[in-house]
Amino acid sequence: METIKYRNYILRNYADLPQMSSLSQEEQEAIKIVGQVLPFKANNYVVEQLIDWNNVPNDPIYTLTFPRKEMLSKKNYNDVKSYLEKGDEAALKQKVFDIRMKLNPNPAGQEKNIPMVDGIKLHGMQHKYRETVLFFPSQGQTCHAYCTFCFRWPQFSGMNELKFAMKEADLLQRYLLKHPKVTDVLFTGGDPLTAKTSIMAAYIEPLLTKEFDHIRNIRIGTKTLAYWPYRFLTDKDADDLLRLFEKVKKAGKHLAFQSHFNHPVELSTDAVKQAISRIQNTGAQIRTQSPLLRHINDDAKIWADMWKEQVRQGLIPYYMFVARDTGSKEFFDVPLEKAWNIFRKAYSNVSGVCRTVRGPSMSASPGKVQILGVTEVSGEKVFVLRFLQCRNPKLIDIPFFAKYDKKATWFDELKPAFGEKEFFFEKDNLLRKNGRDTDFIWE
Ligand SMILES: *Cc1c(COP(=O)(O)O)cnc(C)c1O
Ligand code: SF4
Repeated sequence: METIKYRNYILRNYADLPQMSSLSQEEQEAIKIVGQVLPFKANNYVVEQLIDWNNVPNDPIYTLTFPRKEMLSKKNYNDVKSYLEKGDEAALKQKVFDIRMKLNPNPAGQEKNIPMVDGIKLHGMQHKYRETVLFFPSQGQTCHAYCTFCFRWPQFSGMNELKFAMKEADLLQRYLLKHPKVTDVLFTGGDPLTAKTSIMAAYIEPLLTKEFDHIRNIRIGTKTLAYWPYRFLTDKDADDLLRLFEKVKKAGKHLAFQSHFNHPVELSTDAVKQAISRIQNTGAQIRTQSPLLRHINDDAKIWADMWKEQVRQGLIPYYMFVARDTGSKEFFDVPLEKAWNIFRKAYSNVSGVCRTVRGPSMSASPGKVQILGVTEVSGEKVFVLRFLQCRNPKLIDIPFFAKYDKKATWFDELKPAFGEKEFFFEKDNLLRKNGRDTDFIWE
């Protein structure tokens, strides 16, 4: 296969794209203005093979990667625009910082889940659920292109205090040796597969030794299949990466991809199909996940088509998420009841092999909360919910109720049903130990 060279498009050079002529002056201006606040990066694969330029700006992949005017409030848009026009760099920088801080750059109390080893805080890791440690390799804190909805954006835009990154594989290993209940290490970012294979090998290979018998699943959360499938085909160290996956399998462990696909078009190119089959040939399995996003995939048919196509290519549908309460949420959000209706309709239109997917799920501070449905109990309309994951494993899978709220788009807008003051998990310190919510409840 012919080698395709990676080229990226950012604020400095996007205007050179011949495809820009498909956009109005106003749409082009929006990229520059909104792009000051939300990080912007696209690449030649996304631009040439995924976006349908006859359908911009409404094309789902255009909306997923290119900033649009509606992603900022009118006021913020006009403020940024006027500072840009004045050319006052310092004031612009301050304004952009202020807007970003108001966009809730670090949602769901992630700072609470930072583990410690030998008195050292491990800022490149998160340990929220007993079995699974998240690890953020510092070399993987970028992506092949950026999603406009993404809550990880402070990591890409130089807000260093918020950057969860850690250099030493050594600290990860020390931590895992002290936590025998951990079975999964989930490499995440950014996108860890923006790092070179040699870097990933330095993190993964030590975990294949006998000492780490308790680590059964090496998981990689990545959007690379959708944004740059050549990582597995023709990039210089593509073959080495596949050999690394094989080594994991040979060591008796499961290499699990947690792959982000937001729209069926991302599964349609020759390159992605070949990349999927090369990964599968190593014995790795690919699970898929995506948030539900207005303007991109808020339609049951899109999800049903996506799950069906994934299963046809041997992928395992895994999670449908509710868009998080951060960034340009107002542009992308879908009310919870509508989210459930889209999920239900899509779920009922696919066969059982696609129904491995769970959702819609909200990654909130106590855990991953699934919306099981809207129903009536003793004359009161309620949401039925359950934890798919929880800081306290004893609370998983117990149904609970929230007062119905037509407009609610996120968990923290919900109130307990039946006039109760607290949700069941808020009682009796169920999420706290020693009165602190920083301690792991299961220890
Ligand atoms: C989603 C998530 C995981 C992984 O959960 P699984 O249900 O095992 O896929 C781990 N840690 C955090 C913080 C998460 O949000
Ligand atoms: S690829 Fe993932 S981490 Fe990167 S911008 Fe998109 S959603 Fe965020």
